[in-house]
Amino acid sequence: MSVPPHSGHDFRLLHSRWTEVSLASGLRCRTICEVGGHPVLIVENDAAAAGETGGLYVSAGVHGDECAPVWALLEWVASAPAVLKQIPITLFPCLNPVGLIENTRRDGTGVDLNRSFADTTVPVIAAWQEAVAGRQFDVSVNLHEDYDATGIYLYELTRRDSRGDALLRACETHLLRDSAIVIDGSDFENGLLVRTSGIEKVVEEQLGGGYPEAILLFLKYAEVSYTFETPSESDLLRRIAAHRAFLEAVTESTV
Ligand SMILES: [Zn+2]
Repeated sequence: MSVPPHSGHDFRLLHSRWTEVSLASGLRCRTICEVGGHPVLIVENDAAAAGETGGLYVSAGVHGDECAPVWALLEWVASAPAVLKQIPITLFPCLNPVGLIENTRRDGTGVDLNRSFADTTVPVIAAWQEAVAGRQFDVSVNLHEDYDATGIYLYELTRRDSRGDALLRACETHLLRDSAIVIDGSDFENGLLVRTSGIEKVVEEQLGGGYPEAILLFLKYAEVSYTFETPSESDLLRRIAAHRAFLEAVTESTV
């Protein structure tokens, strides 16, 4: 397979590309906090920055050993999709810079951020909570990878009709679906798990009381919350393409 032109863990390059791409796209880019001397960015269009209700939320780089999502989100925005001017857009390009640099799931202090989104003693979470306070998104997208997975899969938390199957279909030209019927202790069907209720029970029984980003978003800030996963042992460019296809499919059906 082809080789990317840079390391997937080059945070400095990622940061400078976001500064350029935000400027070129008319997006606002600001630092919500620094972790280990590295800036954590929020990127928004004018509608989101003005606090308009609805629209799209996307985050990447919560787990540092999952590098395809951060480049896919950047590439997608750099491609100037029309949706950037049509609905409020709120992006967190890389919430765990130290993890990305060190190629670790956890942050530099041993915290798994994706079990800590309700814990404001973690500085980046406190900054994130302040940034999203009072916001209400139509759709949130959390981009992740899984080193045990054999294909793509999707957690869909929704108060609307499920669109997960169509979204996965849109990504299958790049990577096939994971055929496992149990992934991380939950039952999947053709790569999809849909939940509409009983979310707090999942947090208590399966996650030891720790809140993932997608679940906190669904409970407090978003009508629909997707967590899209690619198999991190697959080719990087295919993984990037799959994440980008997911973003394109989500926004096609959101506008
Ligand atoms: Zn992850």
